[in-house]
This record gives sequence, structure tokens and C-alpha cells, in this order.
Amino acid sequence: MDEILSVKDLKKYFKTPKGLLHAVDNVSFSIKRGETLGVVGESGCGKSTLGRTIIGLLESSGGQIFFDEKDITRPSGKDVMVLRKQMQMIFQDPFSSLNPRMSVHDAIAEGMLIHKICSSKEELEKKVEELMDTVGLARRLANSYPHELDGGRRQRIGIARALSLNPSFIVCDEPVSALDVSIQAQILNLMQDLQEERKLTYLFITHNLSVVKHISNEIMVMYLGQVVEKCGSKELFAHTLHPYTKALLSAIPTVDLDDRREQILLKGEISSPINPKPGCRFASRCPYAKETCTKENPKLKEIWPGHFVACHYVEEINNGQEGEK
Ligand code: SF4
Repeated sequence: MDEILSVKDLKKYFKTPKGLLHAVDNVSFSIKRGETLGVVGESGCGKSTLGRTIIGLLESSGGQIFFDEKDITRPSGKDVMVLRKQMQMIFQDPFSSLNPRMSVHDAIAEGMLIHKICSSKEELEKKVEELMDTVGLARRLANSYPHELDGGRRQRIGIARALSLNPSFIVCDEPVSALDVSIQAQILNLMQDLQEERKLTYLFITHNLSVVKHISNEIMVMYLGQVVEKCGSKELFAHTLHPYTKALLSAIPTVDLDDRREQILLKGEISSPINPKPGCRFASRCPYAKETCTKENPKLKEIWPGHFVACHYVEEINNGQEGEK
């Protein structure tokens, strides 16, 4: 399977009165066509900035982005229009991402009108109806407004808008975290069905590891702008290696009495992403930190085939787990 997106040493820094905020720092990864990469981390880890930089809502501060093997890091005006159709975004809060004065019909039709997708009004009407059917929105809601709908229906409008230009790649930025748990499963199932039908590729951003467990082929864990662990989804849950990922995983509530993990409570202050000091950015909260950790930034290295971890003491912490594989 070929790669649709490849990101190399991507950086996104913001100027602040106190210095440069390193929101995304030297992030590299690729996604195969038709697959999902889950990006996980606490709020402020840079995952949303990463998604927005990839689809061009923010300008990168360094590194490269390749889409379908083409360098799109600084796209020309013509390329921007093409990319807007191929790369779309589903936002976290469907209410604030929708124009309150636009009906469901108009919100779904907007992108197709801007990009002149339809040659007649009839074709546009047909496409809007088809999209409403696809995302499970009753056609009678076409003239409703966002405030008249529940969160699940509003997110279905967001998905229909993203699909309206027939994209191949979608950044899903916490698409279910503002929804009730019962609705979350419906939206996740819908997104999985659409991925299969339309061969979509997702970059799925969330703070919740349990949400991405089933939808992702690979998972990338971020901490303060950097990738700390990346591997296949099953592998991450079976052999968690980085101390930060272990803490994230231990916080997932479970009803399975045989699978109760002891919750790891992280102590210590989160270090500042503004002009970050040398060393591991997790050192101030890591129970295994040693002197080296505060001096040298650990590189992301392949511990097992396809399993990458950024930690100086990963072997020692995991007590020779690699020998068991
Ligand atoms: Fe902890 Fe050091 Fe590993 Fe960072 S490099 S995760 S501080 S042991």
C-alpha cells in the first residue's frame, strides 16, 4: 500500500512575548492510503497544531510535507485550491464550526458552490440530498439550523461538509470528544464505514487513547510538541514502552476486572514549551528520569520493527521486554 502523506521534521513555532513556543518540533511520520493514524496526547501537546499545519491552515516554521509524493509545504495559489478539495478537516466542536445563520442544506452546499463542483442547481440539490443520506441526516432537516439539532446531528453536518468535495485525506480533530458517549460510537462507526466505502485516509487527533484504539492502524503519542512513541495500534496496547504512554493508558477506565491497571499519577510540573530547555521534555514528570534526561533530548529510535520510542532508558524501564518478542 502506498503512502498518501509524508511529513519530515515538521516544525511549527509561535512568537510569544516570552520567546518562541515550540508547538510542533521535528515531527516525522507517514500514512498509507486508506489507513488511519491516531495522534494522541494531552491538550497543549501540539496535536491540533500539527493537523492544522498539514492541511495548510497554519504555515509551517520548518520541515516538509508531501502529499501524493508532491511537496506541499509552501503550495502555490493554484495548488491551494486543488489541496482544499483533497484535504479536509472535521472539527471538534461542530456547533462553533458551523455558521449559526446557515441551514443544514446551505452548510453542506457551501463548499460545492465555492469550488463550482455542480453544473446546475438540480445537480447541487441532488448532491446535498445524497450527502445527507450518506451521513444519516434525515432530509426533512435540510432547512433546520444548527441550534435546533443535537451534537451528533451537528457533527454529521460537519462530516457531510468535509465529504462534499470528495477528499482523499481528512484531519479529524477530536471529532467525538464534545459528544455524549452513546453518540460517540455512532459517529465513529459512521467514519469507519465512510473510510471503507470511499478509501479515505484519516489523521485522527484525540486526547483519549481508548477512542483511537479501534479506528487506528497506527498510533503516534505526542508530548509537548514531540513524538514520544509510535507503532501499530495493537502493538501499542500490548507492549507500551514509553513512561508517558504508560501513564496515559493507565488512566483509561475499564469495567474488565481482569484488566484493571494501576493508575500512574504523574507528579511534577509540565515543562514550558517556550524556548524549551535541552533534554527530554517529559523529565520533570518522569519517575525514571536521570541526569542524562535533563541534558540530552532522546531521539525517536526503532526498538522493535515498526515500534519507535524516544527515551534514553526504554530498555531498562521495560526490563528486557524486547527479549520476550
Ligand atoms: Fe523519562 Fe528519561 Fe526516558 Fe525521558 S528519557 S522518558 S525522562 S527516562
